[in-house]
Amino acid sequence: MIDLHTHSTASDGTDSPARLVEVAALAGVTTLAITDHDTTSGWPEAAESAGRHRIGLVRGAEISALARTPGWGTGVHLLAYLHDPTHPDLLAETDRTRDDRTSRARRMVDLLGEDYPITWEDLLAQTRSGTTIGRPHIADALVAAGVVPDRDEAFATMLRPGTRYYVGHYAPDAVAAVRAIRAAGGVPVFAHPGADARGRVVPDSTIEELAAAGLAGLEVDHRDHTPGRRRRLRDVAESLDLLVTGSSDFHGEGKKNRLGENTTQPEVLEAIAAQGALEVLR
Ligand code: AMP
Ligand code: FE
Ligand code: FE
Ligand code: ZN
Repeated sequence: MIDLHTHSTASDGTDSPARLVEVAALAGVTTLAITDHDTTSGWPEAAESAGRHRIGLVRGAEISALARTPGWGTGVHLLAYLHDPTHPDLLAETDRTRDDRTSRARRMVDLLGEDYPITWEDLLAQTRSGTTIGRPHIADALVAAGVVPDRDEAFATMLRPGTRYYVGHYAPDAVAAVRAIRAAGGVPVFAHPGADARGRVVPDSTIEELAAAGLAGLEVDHRDHTPGRRRRLRDVAESLDLLVTGSSDFHGEGKKNRLGENTTQPEVLEAIAAQGALEVLR
């Protein structure tokens, strides 16, 4: 059971990196990727836990990016696997994204604070030091303040783009991000490319551009994709000679996604391992 997309408290998951690896081992996952948003800070703790729980570990990250599409552009997520976490170009971009995510969260909390009883301290209480801050932490602060019952309700109401509380954040251009991931020795896979319930998705021409820049694969099997969307994406992957992955996008108790609910074939994992600068820890 190979699950190549999960989150810990290094970003918006609810399990520590060590606990994430442990619950994955208990769930029967044989190889897990830790892919926190715009950070690799969970890697050392996850690696130590993977050794203890005898589970394979792919060190990765989920890079926020912006695809050049007509109008405003489209936010996309790129999974980066097995890259050098110290490579300056990619690190500069993720540092900039993380800084702006913090400023953006401050502005959203300020706006929300005009109508609801939440402060920046309430948000910080929902994070650890070094956490990549996202809307889920704002949701957690709203839950703790008794404003909404859970993250889902916060996302369905005040945290949606288009509300008066929503603020965007910096993200690098997607073609540049694919190149930066490759330059760092990483393997770039387009996360949930057809998840249209979250917002706009990119046209096939964008996937073609990313493939030309070095994209390695598409995350086809993901709970946010309908069966029809998966079939279409599988065809696109085949026509562009891209790998096909499947994963849970597990966030602990923060989302309904369960570990191993979608999985990746062993030969695809081997192809990713062969292209990455780092080893899969086994
Ligand atoms: P942000 O990156 O700050 O814009 O927040 C988006 C993140 O929120 C995504 O990466 C998801 O992990 C998470 N998310 C989106 N919708 C929900 C939801 N309904 N419940 C919990 N988390 C969500
Ligand atoms: Fe997330
Ligand atoms: Fe994502
Ligand atoms: Zn994710």
